[in-house]
Amino acid sequence: MIWSVRSETMARAELERVQAERLVELVRRVYDRVPFYRKKMDLAGVSPDDIRGLGDLAKLPFTTKGELRDVYPDGLLATERRKIVEVHTSSGTTGKPVVDAYTASDIDVWSEVMARALSMGGVTSSETIQNAYGYGLFTGGLGVHYGARRIGANVIPISGGNTQRQLMILRDFGPEALTCTPSYCLYLAEAAREQGIDFATLPLRVGFFGAEPWSDMMRTEIEEKLHILALDIYGLTEIVGPGVAQECPEKNGLHVAEDHFLPEIVDPETAVPLPAGQKGELVFTTLTKEGTPLIRYRTRDVTYLDPSPCRCGRTSTRMHRLLGRTDDMLIIRGVNVFPSQIEEVLLRAEGVEPHYQLVVDRSAHLDTLEVQVEMNERIFSDQVRNLEGFERAISAELFAALGVHAAVKLVEPKSIPRSEGKAKRIVDRRTI
Ligand SMILES: [Zn+2]
Repeated sequence: MIWSVRSETMARAELERVQAERLVELVRRVYDRVPFYRKKMDLAGVSPDDIRGLGDLAKLPFTTKGELRDVYPDGLLATERRKIVEVHTSSGTTGKPVVDAYTASDIDVWSEVMARALSMGGVTSSETIQNAYGYGLFTGGLGVHYGARRIGANVIPISGGNTQRQLMILRDFGPEALTCTPSYCLYLAEAAREQGIDFATLPLRVGFFGAEPWSDMMRTEIEEKLHILALDIYGLTEIVGPGVAQECPEKNGLHVAEDHFLPEIVDPETAVPLPAGQKGELVFTTLTKEGTPLIRYRTRDVTYLDPSPCRCGRTSTRMHRLLGRTDDMLIIRGVNVFPSQIEEVLLRAEGVEPHYQLVVDRSAHLDTLEVQVEMNERIFSDQVRNLEGFERAISAELFAALGVHAAVKLVEPKSIPRSEGKAKRIVDRRTI
């Protein structure tokens, strides 16, 4: 089901013409109204007159998260303060938060791209969404809420956490759609099983999972346990929140709402733009944003783009599901390792659950990686279990996939801390 046939199936040439027009207007607007950008562009020796089309994009300077913190709280505002109708911020756990200020038009765009996203999972005005993303300064909750309202669906704003109540609502209200982080979804599945709730008997049919990287193996796990279609949703506070990109049922990448958010991939080390298909850091320019527009914002998310046509009929570029983050990327003895690669291996292995933690340490100047993963109840209770044999087998699989040695430690069921939001997968004990 396509929410906006006009926008989502536009011929590429026409889409690029729309993008170019919007880019030219955006650059002129931020140069005139945001001293931060005027200074950056002056320093880079580029004026708004130099930007005439998409081919000129690479002339523009990048924007980094650090810079956004430096201009906290309102240094990016590109409109009069009275036109701002809503403000969100990032969690700011490692410093000042990043602020995203929305005009009424920005909220309208957000509602539109979220309506497109939910429609990709077939949500209609006669369905109910259990929205277990957090409401508040975090964009997850309200983003889904606005999209649901735009479609006319019934949205249950339960927000994150409170697992018992989540299960009660799932059972008693019978929502067709669920939105939360993938790790919390698996936690819900586990809690439901303990209470004898059988998902096969519930109307739930689709889930939109995001806010953290997850793998195709984890998708299979979720789909089997909940008897649903599990789709990946992508967004970030700095750009708009959720709805920047969404997977369709073809499951071959996430459709970027390219008429509003212009994507690029650059080499994370050199910042040189890379062609379609090559892995690198995802960069966005907000083509239509009024409140706090961003030019070439480096997301630190690692993926690649695929502009080939999708079988669903949409013409927008697709981004592959996140491969990781440049700041989450572990460098183990010089080898780049993403937690998602480890997850793929673990979820393929026999006898383990999708709950794991990666402990990185340094011993005699050498990095060590220990993968702690929960064994399932069957292995745990097996009298003749050969844990060492299991551990060695998984370790060999990891070596084959990553090219680095990782010690595997099977731990008891439920011993890895559960999260009601983003899972904390990495414990890095190295002091450098
Ligand atoms: Zn598609």
